[in-house]
Amino acid sequence: MERIYLDNAATTKVAPEVFEAMKPYLMEEFANPSSTYRFAGQTHGKVDDARKTIADFIGAKESEIYFTSGGSEADNWAIKGVADALSTRGKHIITTKIEHHAVLHTCEYLEKHGYEVTYLDVDEYGLVDPAKFEAAIRPDTILASVMFANNEIGTIEPIAELGKIAHNHGVIFHTDAVQAFGHIRINVDEMNIDLLSASAHKLNGPKGVGLLYLRTGIKVTTLIHGGSQERGRRAGTTNSAGIIGFGKAVELADERLEANNEYETKLRNKLIERVTTEIPYVKFNGHPEQRLSNNTNFCFRFIEGESLLILLDQNNICASSGSACTSGALDPSHVLLAIGLPHEIAHGSIRFTLSAETTEEEIDYTVEALKKIVDRLRSMSPLYEDFVKKNNKN
Ligand SMILES: *Cc1c(COP(=O)(O)O)cnc(C)c1O
Repeated sequence: MERIYLDNAATTKVAPEVFEAMKPYLMEEFANPSSTYRFAGQTHGKVDDARKTIADFIGAKESEIYFTSGGSEADNWAIKGVADALSTRGKHIITTKIEHHAVLHTCEYLEKHGYEVTYLDVDEYGLVDPAKFEAAIRPDTILASVMFANNEIGTIEPIAELGKIAHNHGVIFHTDAVQAFGHIRINVDEMNIDLLSASAHKLNGPKGVGLLYLRTGIKVTTLIHGGSQERGRRAGTTNSAGIIGFGKAVELADERLEANNEYETKLRNKLIERVTTEIPYVKFNGHPEQRLSNNTNFCFRFIEGESLLILLDQNNICASSGSACTSGALDPSHVLLAIGLPHEIAHGSIRFTLSAETTEEEIDYTVEALKKIVDRLRSMSPLYEDFVKKNNKN
């Protein structure tokens, strides 16, 4: 088997159409779109077109889309920007224990600068409880940030409902939609979203470009100071090729969203079904239905996720344990701990995230490889040996 790529939550392949759309703007049409001569005009126009495509995709206005270097920057800007702009009104922020580190570490940074942050618990599926969310709101709460869909376990949060609660209390609502954008239909008005983060490389666009949707009238301070790009609010020479590629990726996502979801859901369900029935002592993580169509996450008891990853890699299978940011570290995933898994089980977690290019053959090959690898690792595991001994006694 050639390489089997099942880590699409970490990043995706640039679609050929996206690459073709970008190429001229890296080569002959290289002008800085802020320049005034005619040579720059064509690039400037294309960047505007991309902004319009993307704004339409989420029911926003073009003037509400700000391009950034990616999801992490958009998360930082949204949270630091609102916190700074509204500090005289209050210094309390609500978020959840299962956010991406771009949100969690930003909140921790703000805690060192006089803000108070409530990190909401989630249930065993990773869902935020709207009643607990509402109960956490205080008179000095300025901002709530809840991710649209979780990058590790795929659970989709009740964003429209949470946004409505936030608005009823005059709280600004941000969502890190990096995993959802291009995979779930989003309408910022219907879903009561004030700020939204997205990133091109999670939907077959290029790395290094993302966006912050900022609802008209919401105050944020500037994160990147310098020139007057992005209507004076985000400096830096426009990443024209990246933005044009992002626009194309959104155009494709818009056309293919339902078909891709249907296809991926079928394969995803097959993977879940086979792994949970053919391998013993497996725990499936995340919500059974309210989840991203391409996400699966399992814990294999008595095994370290890291060892599993290495052996999968030897079989040419790319997967991930927890988030890309935590693999390499030996701390279990904060998301799996938040859904109540004990450390020793959380350590044995593996995430497989599919794409529209994943084939049934690849899923079958992966399951067969997993069965062998899990057997082999368990046969070397003292924990498993103890467990078997104890079971035999009973
Ligand atoms: C990937 C990811 C990010 C970070 O986006 P970058 O563009 O890589 O900075 C943030 N949040 C979530 C949920 C993600 O999956």
